[in-house]
Amino acid sequence: MENRKKNFSEWYNEIVETAELSDKRYHVKGMNVWRPYGLKIMQGIDGIIRRLVDSRDFDEVSFPVPVTKDQLMVEFEHVKGFEGELYWITRGGHENLDVELALRPTSEAAMYPMFSLWIRSHADLPMKLYQIVSVYRHETKHTRSFIRIREIHFFEAHTAHATYEDAEKQMVQYKEIWERLADELCLPYITNRRPDWDKFPGARYTLAFDTLLPSSRSLQIGTIHQYGTNFSENYDIKYADDDGEHHFVSQTTFGMSERLLAAVIGVHGDDKGLILPPGIAPVQVIIVPIPSESEDTIGYSRKIGDDLLKMGFRVRVDDRDNYTPGYKYNDWEMRGVPVRVEIGVREVGSGNVTVALRSKKGKKVMSRGDFVSGVTGLLGEVKASMKESADKLFLSLLTDSSSLDDMKKAIGATAAYWCGSKECADHIEAEADLDPLGFVNGTEDVGKCIVCGTDGKKSVFSKSY
Ligand SMILES: [Zn+2]
Repeated sequence: MENRKKNFSEWYNEIVETAELSDKRYHVKGMNVWRPYGLKIMQGIDGIIRRLVDSRDFDEVSFPVPVTKDQLMVEFEHVKGFEGELYWITRGGHENLDVELALRPTSEAAMYPMFSLWIRSHADLPMKLYQIVSVYRHETKHTRSFIRIREIHFFEAHTAHATYEDAEKQMVQYKEIWERLADELCLPYITNRRPDWDKFPGARYTLAFDTLLPSSRSLQIGTIHQYGTNFSENYDIKYADDDGEHHFVSQTTFGMSERLLAAVIGVHGDDKGLILPPGIAPVQVIIVPIPSESEDTIGYSRKIGDDLLKMGFRVRVDDRDNYTPGYKYNDWEMRGVPVRVEIGVREVGSGNVTVALRSKKGKKVMSRGDFVSGVTGLLGEVKASMKESADKLFLSLLTDSSSLDDMKKAIGATAAYWCGSKECADHIEAEADLDPLGFVNGTEDVGKCIVCGTDGKKSVFSKSY
């Protein structure tokens, strides 16, 4: 494999291909095919997201893909933000359509006309819906698997509330959901308040969760948006309060995509391939029997596999005939399986197993009983060591700058005080080739702007995807 630290881009493309995650050779350029292993990992991520939002009273919906031009045009800022990326359907059969349809770039224009029908009174609020669907954006920049693509695997939550304060509380809940998801995926991140010119089109403000990849670039892997009444005033989404008075609802959204998978690949992988967090690994434990004439290593392996299956673990016994054990070890290592078990004559004879953890060096011998009852602990050990290395990488890529010179020398992201003006951001971009990710959210850390010297706040700058 390519060297992940030296040639991240090549390494990334190679692992996406070798681990059979997705195939970019599909005949519609920029729209990739999910292969079984990649899809399973993504479904694992989606599963965690579903659990997190379902348990917080969100309901799942599924809206049609096309939206009419009229509905798209309702919120001016919104349509302006997406107009360069829309795909249009103009014909149906042999006829030109009376009303042009666009493939949703996101689902405000699909959902909000229905919200205005569904929401009548205070009793209908809060309304908390989400869907996990494909959205379409005609990316003009160079596409890259899971990072920049034209058919996006998209999670979007949309909520409506009686007041702005209630919507603010929702923003707090999003952050808590995000924290749990990031913990499951062992991903370090910074929460940044995007500058006004870079917020979601139509939002009052946008908070973004950014992680850092070994390429020294930041990757936005989740965003939450406070809409206030910007959309409800345009889509006429109103509720009657107890006195029969009508008010526009306040709204929020939460968006994530397969960039989460890109982050998992990039942050955790190594020169042998993927390293998957146990919570999303399609195979958590792989058991490799070393065939033998004298002992039934395959039968012994299957018994252990059955025990683990009954306990609810995702486990497989690799008894393929045509491959050597060494090949199998490398293959499963490349696929990022957290725990590998080797079963040879010695293991069967002594009632033991030999265990290797993907995220750590070395092997250990355990009794079969200790292993079976200790799998949860071993997966926990993998998770803990993954977090430790991810944090180490993250900190090595995030420095502090107290001058423009520091910023020019920075590898990766760098934090500095910034007044928030476009002029100063442009100056930093021109001098140090770094984009503003925005004020670090919630920080009280204030100081003089690194460019103009007026009052500023702690902010993060980096090259970004
Ligand atoms: Zn400034």
